[in-house]
Amino acid sequence: MYRKLQFKIVLILVSFIVCIMTVVGTILIGNIFSYYTDDFTRQQSEVFTEDFLHELEKSLTYENYPERIKNTLSAYSARLGIDENRNFFLLDANGNYLSGSVAKEDSNIKKTQNLVHAIAGNTSHVQKVGNSSMDWAEVVVSPKDPSFSVIVYITDNNAEMKEFSWMVFSIILQSLLIGLVVAVILSFFLSKAIVSPIQSITKKATKLSKGDFDESLTVYSDDEIGTLTHTFNKMADTLKNNLNEISNQREKLETIIHYLKDAVIAFDNEGMPMHINPEAKALFKDDVTGTLTLDKLIEILDLDCRTEDLTLGENDSVNLTNVIFENRVFDVSFGKFNFNLSEKTFGGYIAVLHDVTESFELDKSRREFIATVSHELGTPLTGIKGATETIVANPDMPNDVKNHFLDMVISESDRMTHIVHDLLVLSRLDNHRVNWNPSSFSIAELIEKCCLVLSAEAKNNSQELTYVKNDDSLPDVFADKEKIEQILINIVQNAMKYTQDGGKIFITLDLTNVQGKADLKDGKYFKISVADNGQGIPEEDLPHIFERFYRVEKARNSDKGGTGLGLAIARELAQAHGGNILITSKVKKGTLVDIYLPEQAKF
Ligand code: ADP
Repeated sequence: MYRKLQFKIVLILVSFIVCIMTVVGTILIGNIFSYYTDDFTRQQSEVFTEDFLHELEKSLTYENYPERIKNTLSAYSARLGIDENRNFFLLDANGNYLSGSVAKEDSNIKKTQNLVHAIAGNTSHVQKVGNSSMDWAEVVVSPKDPSFSVIVYITDNNAEMKEFSWMVFSIILQSLLIGLVVAVILSFFLSKAIVSPIQSITKKATKLSKGDFDESLTVYSDDEIGTLTHTFNKMADTLKNNLNEISNQREKLETIIHYLKDAVIAFDNEGMPMHINPEAKALFKDDVTGTLTLDKLIEILDLDCRTEDLTLGENDSVNLTNVIFENRVFDVSFGKFNFNLSEKTFGGYIAVLHDVTESFELDKSRREFIATVSHELGTPLTGIKGATETIVANPDMPNDVKNHFLDMVISESDRMTHIVHDLLVLSRLDNHRVNWNPSSFSIAELIEKCCLVLSAEAKNNSQELTYVKNDDSLPDVFADKEKIEQILINIVQNAMKYTQDGGKIFITLDLTNVQGKADLKDGKYFKISVADNGQGIPEEDLPHIFERFYRVEKARNSDKGGTGLGLAIARELAQAHGGNILITSKVKKGTLVDIYLPEQAKF
């Protein structure tokens, strides 16, 4: 670039100088030429006046007219400008030499147009000035004999003019050469002054294009180039700041997208993948993420029926709820993004998959729970309605039958009250609205009290309810006594309920170190074990045993008056204390329920 510009400057200066010198030379040489011819013409016309010609004509009357005319012309030689380059000749009418300023042998007269004209007898003055020579021919006619005439012929070989022109030409040539040298030197300084800053700017621009913004250019002058350098520095600063800003924003955005819990995929305007965040990569298989186009995503997520909604023509986003993929539920949003906000160049699509599995499951279990509650409350209500309608429809029915129906009403009402009470307890536990009254008390004494309360019922069932005391020196527990009593009653009542008459129920108490047990933190716990030799729980029911309203055999349990809420309440109360309840059971062999309670409950 530098060389090219320097070459251009040299070329411009040289062309300028050559042009000037050519024009000046042409005008100068042209002027010299016309000056000499004009001067020649002026000199001749000043000498060859009427009087002078009469004098020459008169000379023709003499015998020695050539001599006389030669003398006359010699007398005028200074005015005629006769010298070594300019001669005069006296020629006869045929152009033959008679006399002249030089001898015949040196005359070398050429038949110029003027001379030919004069030989033709043209009596008028003729003259012609050529390029290589100038001449002047005068026909002098004898006043006595018009047929006798001579030609006075003056010729100039232009040597002086040529010499002067050549001198001027050589001066111009020298000036041209000097001009060319000056042009080269000037171009060097000019290119240094103009090109060096441009060269620095070019270097800096190359560095800028490679992302190097560190150096700034030195401003050497306050002229246009200085202003350009200053403006360039400012532009580089602005560019650096803007690029920093953009890269900061981009980093922020990438960090947000990277750590987003939602799966985010950006597609270009042709639906090809541009960016897939780690959550999306984890969601879709590795072989899919490489070629996950927009169409493929729609296909994988099985959105065929809604493909037409994704044209995103007028609406800028489309939201699809409860899309099930890989056993998870997603809210999928498709949006458009633009590259240039002001001109709105369509950039592509963004797909965001928000995992709503948890809330979806929660919603589902809530709906199921409401359905179960409605069913559980509906059954006793139907019983009550049926019994009362039967009584109303048969006013004359016997009293014992009527009492049977009334007992049914009372028992179903009790069952409903029981369910509502248990639901209220669970609802308080769910909403953390239970009033906890923690205190220190002896668990052994509480177990003894429970056994006493339930002993009458056990006796009725001919069951053996025994508390096997292992250790007398156990410390007190810090917990809510009333709630622990409720847990105990629920568990022991279950053991009695699901153990045949004459069966055995054993209760033991220990303080034990728990380590690596599922659903329990490592530490010291009171362990109350309630073992029975009843009907046991089938293996497939064990994982569901703590679910609300879950009963192993609904028909069997309804006979026993159960609600399916007792174990759920017991375990949630134990967990609220920082403990838990674990059940192991074998059908027809019996069930072992272990209640774990920490020494110091924290609510
Ligand atoms: P329910 O009010 O029906 O007793 P629970 O939540 O207390 O409800 O118990 C849930 C189910 O677990 C019962 O319906 C019963 O089938 C089973 N179950 C609980 N404890 C025992 C046990 N000791 N022996 C056998 N089955 C039991």
